Amino acid sequence: MAPRKLAAGNWKMNGTLASLAEVDALLSAHPAPGCDLLLCPPAVLVHAMAQRAQGSALKVGGQDCHANASGAHTGDIAAAELADVGASHVILGHSERRADHGETDAQVAAKAIAAHQAGLVAIICVGETETQRDAGQTLDVIAAQLAGSVPDCATAANTVIAYEPVWAIGTGRTPTNDQIAEVHALMRDKLSARFADGADFTLLYGGSVKPGNAAEIFAIPHVEGALVGGASLKASDFGPIVAAL
Ligand code: PEP
Repeated sequence: MAPRKLAAGNWKMNGTLASLAEVDALLSAHPAPGCDLLLCPPAVLVHAMAQRAQGSALKVGGQDCHANASGAHTGDIAAAELADVGASHVILGHSERRADHGETDAQVAAKAIAAHQAGLVAIICVGETETQRDAGQTLDVIAAQLAGSVPDCATAANTVIAYEPVWAIGTGRTPTNDQIAEVHALMRDKLSARFADGADFTLLYGGSVKPGNAAEIFAIPHVEGALVGGASLKASDFGPIVAAL
């Protein structure tokens, strides 16, 4: 099995019910995309977006879940609750959550196990800071995050890995193609060494992907798609990225 291609959008803390008009626009422009298609809106919109997407190619995901199945965790969301309202995926370990909430690799791995138990595909994010890249630590950082954040129960069917350099997120800056290729080759090697189906995991690049640079990034070996933030909010931006994959 070859890795599946995936165009995934992360709306972060943006959007209201009115923003779901973008779903209609995206689907009418791209009713049969040549890749898996996913949008991860704020949790309060997951149900409405999933209903809007029913019968279409669009899948819907959350942006985080708790490691526990239920209980006294005010403000948190269980993986099964996301699944219950129509989610198929959940983003875990995004650098904004690692920074804003101090999420550790071990916590991300625990959340991924919870996601799998609820039947969700976990999109596990890894990425170096600019300081780490400047210090020549990128490959070590990515290897350590992969080892710590991806649980042993991960398979190519239930887990996607997103390489998102922290310094490229929302900045308009991207690594060179060689830098992306180097990290993706490392991720493929590490996954293949650890998992029987490591060659089949979908590997996404994320960080300032736009209509203008998507095709070039998708041509890099071991890049099977993108996790897109700002450019996923408008169908007019996300559509061309989906079409480039
Ligand atoms: C992200 O938040 O996952 C992301 C990649 O953001 P942006 O595309 O805006 O850089």
